[in-house]
Amino acid sequence: MAKTYGYGFPRLGKQREFKTLIEGYWAGKLTEEELRAGIAKLNDKREETYKKYVDAFPKGEMTFYDNLFDTALIFGIYSAESLDEYFNLCRGKNALEMTKWFNTNYHYLVPDFEGKEVEFKLGWNKHEGIKKNAYLIGPFTLLKLSKNLPEGKFTELLKKLAAKYLEYFKFNGFESVHLDEPAFVMELTDGEVEAIKEAYKSFESVDTKINVFTYYDSVDNLQFVFDLPVAGVGVDLVHDRGENLSQLENIDPKGKTLYAGVVDGRNVWRSDVFKKAEIIKKLSEKFDVVITNAALLFHLPVNLKGATLPPELVAKVAFAEEKLNELKLIADVVKGKEDEARSWVEGIDRAFGVRENVRERVRNLTEADFNKPVPYAERIKLQQERLKLPLFPTTTIGSFPQTQEVRRVRLLNRRGQLSDKDYETFIKGEIAKAIKIQEELGLDVFVHGEFERSDMVEFFAEKLEGIATTGNGWVISYGTRSYRPPIIFGDVERTEPMTVKEIAFAQSLTDKPVKGMLTGPVTIIAWSYCREDIPVSKVAYQIALAIRDEIADYEKAGIKIVQIDEAAFREKAPIKKRNWDEYFDWAVKSFRVCHARSKPETQIHSHMCYSEFGEIIEYILAMDFDVISIEASRSKGDIIEAFEKVNFDRQIGLGVWDIHSPYVPSVEEMKPIVKRALKVIPKENFWVNPDCGLKTRRWEECIPAIRNIVTLAHELREEA
Ligand code: GLN
Ligand code: ZN
Repeated sequence: MAKTYGYGFPRLGKQREFKTLIEGYWAGKLTEEELRAGIAKLNDKREETYKKYVDAFPKGEMTFYDNLFDTALIFGIYSAESLDEYFNLCRGKNALEMTKWFNTNYHYLVPDFEGKEVEFKLGWNKHEGIKKNAYLIGPFTLLKLSKNLPEGKFTELLKKLAAKYLEYFKFNGFESVHLDEPAFVMELTDGEVEAIKEAYKSFESVDTKINVFTYYDSVDNLQFVFDLPVAGVGVDLVHDRGENLSQLENIDPKGKTLYAGVVDGRNVWRSDVFKKAEIIKKLSEKFDVVITNAALLFHLPVNLKGATLPPELVAKVAFAEEKLNELKLIADVVKGKEDEARSWVEGIDRAFGVRENVRERVRNLTEADFNKPVPYAERIKLQQERLKLPLFPTTTIGSFPQTQEVRRVRLLNRRGQLSDKDYETFIKGEIAKAIKIQEELGLDVFVHGEFERSDMVEFFAEKLEGIATTGNGWVISYGTRSYRPPIIFGDVERTEPMTVKEIAFAQSLTDKPVKGMLTGPVTIIAWSYCREDIPVSKVAYQIALAIRDEIADYEKAGIKIVQIDEAAFREKAPIKKRNWDEYFDWAVKSFRVCHARSKPETQIHSHMCYSEFGEIIEYILAMDFDVISIEASRSKGDIIEAFEKVNFDRQIGLGVWDIHSPYVPSVEEMKPIVKRALKVIPKENFWVNPDCGLKTRRWEECIPAIRNIVTLAHELREEA
C-alpha cells in the first residue's frame, strides 16, 4: 500500500520563532547555547507535525540561514569556525550574494568560486547522529547554482564533489539520504546530463539508499534520472505541465521507488484528493509509489490556524500542515477510506468572488490599452522640460525604515486600540519627517516612505477586492525575513484610490517631485497565491486596470513621476526557457496596461531587484517604462554586461548600496559601480540610487549612506 512522505516543512514556526531566535542572537539577547537549544526545539516541533500525518520525512532540514549555504559549508566550499563567522558570511560586509531560488520568492546564498582553490573537503558535519533520510541539497544543484566556476571544468568538479558526498555518506553511515536536485528540471545540456551520470556513478559503491527529489517543473528526459544509481526518484506532478506524468507512462522504473509529488507545495489550493488518489492508483500498477508533496512546503505558511480568511475561502485552501494531511487523505482514499476526504473537498469548486464588471473590462481591452501613443524619445523630452532634473539624479526606491515605532503604531491601529484618524495623523507625521530628511540630504526625487504599508504586496491586497490577506500566514523570503503572501481568489477590483492621499500629502510638502509608488501586477501575483480557475494573464490584466485607475488619480493630484515596482518580474519566469514567451507576453502586456493611457509627460519608473538581466533585457525594454532602477551592488555592477549587447535607450539607476546589509558604503566604494556602467550607459541616462527599498534598514544607516550617494552624484557631475 502506498506510503506517504513529506518534505520541506517550514522552519519559520507558527509564531515565527525562527526569526525571534536568530534575531535575538544577533541582538545579543540570546547566547549561542540558548539559540541552539531554541532551534532544536523548533525542529522537534516540525518533526512532530510530520509524524502526525506522514510515514517518513527528511532529517537535517533545519538551518540557521539557508540550506544551499549549509551544503557549501559541508563540502568545504566555505568555512566558518564559529556561529558568528557563519552569520558573517550570510549578512554583513563580506556576505555571499543572494539570489532567488528558481522561480520562487525564496532567496539563497550564492556560493562563489571566484579566486578559490577548488578542493572540496568535508568541512562540517551537519548530520551527526542522523542515519535515515539525511537531508542534503544534491551536488548538481549545488554547483549549478554557484557562480564563477572555473571555465570548462564542470564535469570534473561535479565528479570530485560527488566523491565527497560519498565520503560524507560513508562517514555518517547513512542508511538513506534525501537529495534535493531541483536543478534537474532546468533545460540541461547533453554535457550536463553526462556529467550528472558520471558523477552519480560513484554512488554505485555505497550502501546508502539515495532518494533524489526534483521539483518546480518536469525533468526533460526523466528516464535518465531513473537510470542513475539511486533508490528513489521524486517528481513534481503539479507544476510539470503534465510532462512528468506523460513520461512516466513509458519509463522503465528499474526497481526505483517513485516519490509521486501530487500535492502542490507552492500554491494554497486544496487538492482534489480523489483525483490525486486516481493518479496514485494508476502509477502503482507500474511503480513502487510513495505519495509526497510536489516542491518544498516552506513556500506555504505553517497552518491555517488563526488565519483571517472568509469561510468560503477557508474551504478552498490548505497550508503546509494541511498539505501533509492531504498526503494522508490521498493514502486513505487509495485504501478505500473516503469519509474525511469527502468533507475535505466539499467546498473546493464553489465559485467565490465573481465580478462581472471587471471581466467585462478585461474583455474590452484593445490595442490602445497596451500601447502608448507617444514614443519614449519624445516622452523623455516632455518629462525633462517638466522635471528639470540635474545629471545623475538621486533618488531612493520607495520605503524608508519601518521603525519599531511605525510597526507598533500600525499594530495598535489593527487591534482597534488606535483610531484610524490618529493612525493617519501619525503616518502623516512620518511622511513629513521623511520629506524633511530628504530635503536636508539634497536628494532630487523624493519618496513618501511607504510608512502606511506593511508590505508592498499585502498593502495593495488589503485595498483591492478579490484578494484576501491571511493575518498570520508567514513565509520566509530570505534569512529571517518573512512576509505574508495574500490569496488572490476572485476578480480583482479597485473600488477607491489606494495610495493617492499619502502621495499627494507628501507632494504638498515639497517642490521636489515625489514618486507615486505602486506594485505591479506580476509582483502582486508572484508574491501572492494566485487563483488557478482563470488564466493568470486575466488576473494580471485585472490588477493592471486597477493600477491604471490609480495612476489617473495621481495625475489629477499633480504627481509627475510614478514608479511601478516589478521586483518579481524575472523570478516569476518559468524555469524552462522554452516557456518564456508565453509568460513574458502577459507579464509585459500587463505592465503596459498599467501605463499606456497615462500622460506622456508623466514619467514612468519601474524597479526590479535581484534580477539576472542578461537574457530578459528585450522583454524588459518591451515594458516601455521611461526609467528603471535595479539591484547591482553585491555583484559590483556585473549586471551592466547585459546592457552592452542591446540598444538600451532608457534611463537607468544602478543600485550602488546593498541595502540588505547594515554596512554603510563610502563614496569610494560606490563610485566604481557607476564608472563601470558609464562605459556602457550615456551619462544623461544615469540615476544614482540604492539597490532597493530601505524599510529593513535603520535611519542611522540610511542617513549617512544617502549622504554618500548624494556626494557621489555631486562628484560625478563635476567629473562629467
Ligand atoms: N518600493 C519598494 C520599497 O522600497 C520596492 C521594494 C522591492 O523592490 N522589493 O520597499
Ligand atoms: Zn527591490
